[in-house]
Formats: sequence, C-alpha cells, structure tokens
Amino acid sequence: MDFELTPEQVMLRDAARKLAQQQFRQNAARWDRDEEFPEENKHQLAQLGYLGLSMDKQYGGAGAGLVSTYLVVEELAKVDLLTAMIVHDQNVSPRIIANHAPEALKQRLLPGFARGEIECSIAWTEPQAGSDGTAVRTTAIRDGDDYIVNGQKIFTTFGDRADMHLVYARFGPSTGAKGLGTLIVERERPGLTVRKLEGKMGVRGAAENELFFDNVRVPASNVVTLGDPQNSRGFVKPLTIYNGTRVGMGVMALGVAEGAFDLAREYMTVREQFGQKLSEMQGLRWLMADALIEIEAARCLCYKALALIDAGKPDPGLCSIAKVFATEMAQRVTVQCQQMFGGYGYFGSLPLERMVRDVRMLTLTGGTTQTQKNVIASHIFPNS
Ligand SMILES: Cc1cc2nc3c(=O)[nH]c(=O)nc-3n(C[C@H](O)[C@H](O)[C@H](O)COP(=O)(O)OP(=O)(O)OC[C@H]3O[C@@H](n4cnc5c(N)ncnc54)[C@H](O)[C@@H]3O)c2cc1C
Repeated sequence: MDFELTPEQVMLRDAARKLAQQQFRQNAARWDRDEEFPEENKHQLAQLGYLGLSMDKQYGGAGAGLVSTYLVVEELAKVDLLTAMIVHDQNVSPRIIANHAPEALKQRLLPGFARGEIECSIAWTEPQAGSDGTAVRTTAIRDGDDYIVNGQKIFTTFGDRADMHLVYARFGPSTGAKGLGTLIVERERPGLTVRKLEGKMGVRGAAENELFFDNVRVPASNVVTLGDPQNSRGFVKPLTIYNGTRVGMGVMALGVAEGAFDLAREYMTVREQFGQKLSEMQGLRWLMADALIEIEAARCLCYKALALIDAGKPDPGLCSIAKVFATEMAQRVTVQCQQMFGGYGYFGSLPLERMVRDVRMLTLTGGTTQTQKNVIASHIFPNS
C-alpha cells in the first residue's frame, strides 16, 4: 500500500496551494458578501488548465485522475469553498458525458469543458424528488428528431450562469428508476425559465436555482443516457460518476476544516489570556489535537476512495463512508476552530464566520448524510 504522492502530484498541490493562498484568499469574503461569482478566479483556473484536469487528453484535458484533481480542490477549499466548487463541478457533468454520452456529443462538448469555456449544471432534484432521486417527474418525450422536455427542477447550482444543464428526465410512462435518463438542455432553448433561490446560508457567490421547462424542444443528439421504460440503465450509468462526486464533497469539507484549523493554530500562538498564550492551555491543545485526528482520518478515507476510483476499482460503500465522515467532521472541526477566536470568531470580519456557514451545505448536497448511511447499510446488509 503506497501513501506517497508522485512528484507531479506534489508539484500540482503546491502550485494550487500558492495560488489559493496568494491570489484567492484575499477576496473570498467579498464573493460571499456581494453574492458575486468569482469570474477572475475561474479565468485563472481555466488558464492554468485546472478545469480540465481529470478530462481525457484526447478531448483536451490533462488526464490527471481524481486524486490529482482533488488535491487541487482541497487547497482551494482551504481559503474559499466557492472557488473549490468551480473545479469540483467541472468534474461532474463533463465526466458523466465523457463516460456515457455518444461519441459525437463528447466531441462537441468536452474540449469546451476542458478549456473552461462551457459550464453545465446538474438538474436532477425536483420539489418531490430530493433524497428519492428516482421520483423525477420531468419528462422528455420523443417528437420526430427531437425530445420535448416538461417539468421543474430545484436547487440547481450555477443554473443561472450555466451554458447548459444536464437534465434528469423520464423518457416514457414508467415509475422509479426505470425510464429515467439524462439529456443536455442549452440555456437559450425557448420555454426554459431560470429563477434564482434567495436567502442562502453560505457559499453565497454560487446561486441555486429553479428551472422550469415548458415544452422545451431539444435535438435527440443531446441525449446523454437514453431512458428506457423497460430498464434503469439510463439512470444507473451516470450514478457511477457520483462515487467520485461524493468523495469530492468530502475533500472540499476536509479543505475547509484544514483552513479553519490553520487559522485557529496561528491565532492561538498570539492571543493571550490569564498571562498565557491560548496555545499553552492544555484544554485547548487537546481540542486542537482532536481536530487534527479527525482531519487526518478524513484525509485517509477520501484519498483511499479516490485512489481506488483512479485504479478502476471503485468502492461505492467507501465513497459514502468518506463523504459522511469528512463532511460531518468538518461541521465539528470548523465550529471548534471558531471557538478558539472567542467572540471575534462570531463576526464576519474573520473568515471563520463564513467558513462555518459555507461548510454546512456539504452534508446536504450530493446525497445527505442519511442517504449515504442508507447506502453504507445496504453494503452491510446486501440481502435485506
Ligand atoms: C446548497 C445546495 C446545492 C445543491 N445543488 C444541487 C444541484 O446542483 N443539482 C441538484 O440536482 N440538486 C442539488 N441540491 C439538492 C440536494 O441534492 C437535495 O437537497 C438533497 O438530495 C436532499 O433532498 P431534499 O432537500 O428534498 O430533502 P429531503 O429528501 O426532503 O430530506 C429531508 C430530510 O430527511 C432525510 N431523509 C430523506 N429520506 C430519508 C431516508 N430514507 N432515511 C433517512 N433519512 C431520510 C434527509 O437526509 C433530510 O435530512 C443542492 C442542495 C443544496 C442545499
């Protein structure tokens, strides 16, 4: 068992760390305060090739694998979860397309994804289809050479700015997973309306949106995985990609926790009370030791799960374990690190206040903690 990163991975991680600390840290609070998307960060990430890291070389990517990709995401999340999400999200729909779409669609879209010129949101969740992702009601019905899409989506991250959406839809009369499939709907298609959801708790530079499809016509060549009422293949195929996505949520949580930990450690070496540095008080030292134990455990789980995916031996149960542990860990550790700042940590003038709000989303999206525990339990009890 090899726990060493390759020299290339070390270089990649260190370069991302430098970029995050020197370029992205300073404006992280601004994106949150102004609810603004960090276009300049995205531009830099695209220029440096970070948006095509895991994409095959034949489509213009770096073919670097998920371990390498998430080393970058982790460094970005230490200073700004929103900026980390830009790289993370470029690894969801493009990877579904890369792994499951017809060749013509791959050639049409993947080079643009790799260059960061195209963004594609995931439009799966609906008002009645949350944790039960098979309760999708949106339909895609064949009409000549096209499909007509009708329905409604909710919580679509970046749906307001995405050039296109990967839409989960029912391709014919069916229930459950049977008949579900995915297709691309471009933002300019007549009949598509996007409405931003207001009042979000954290990561406020990224908008979640409602999408409304009213007889939206898209060509059959936009189908990624065809839904067939006789089977669930159109639904199951994209699910394989969510193994990596779930762990990716864990890595982002890990990054936020580490960022909070670093800030708390630094503060504790200068803040004095009762004539002592905080870093000299045993009660607080133990809290920090506990935090580090949790961070290291999360790192091992996440990178083991990612290394197995890269090796072509994905372990879906382990991916869920990594997501639950790392995202729940980050809730505890980030709040604990905020505690080290006393009353000052409660104010938005310090990053901790934002980090505590930001990290909250990671136990909810990409399958809640409870949904992941159902997956884990199904591996413990495969026959019941
Ligand atoms: C910030 C954010 C970004 C998101 N981005 C996207 C996106 O880009 N695209 C997209 O399609 N969706 C997105 N989502 C939606 C997200 O995936 C759903 O919110 C999530 O799947 C939960 O669905 P729900 O909100 O309807 O909760 P519900 O399914 O109603 O769940 C409510 C509660 O019940 C629990 N629960 C439900 N079923 C069970 C069960 N069987 N056993 C035990 N507990 C259960 C849940 O864990 C939760 O605590 C996003 C959500 C958020 C908050």
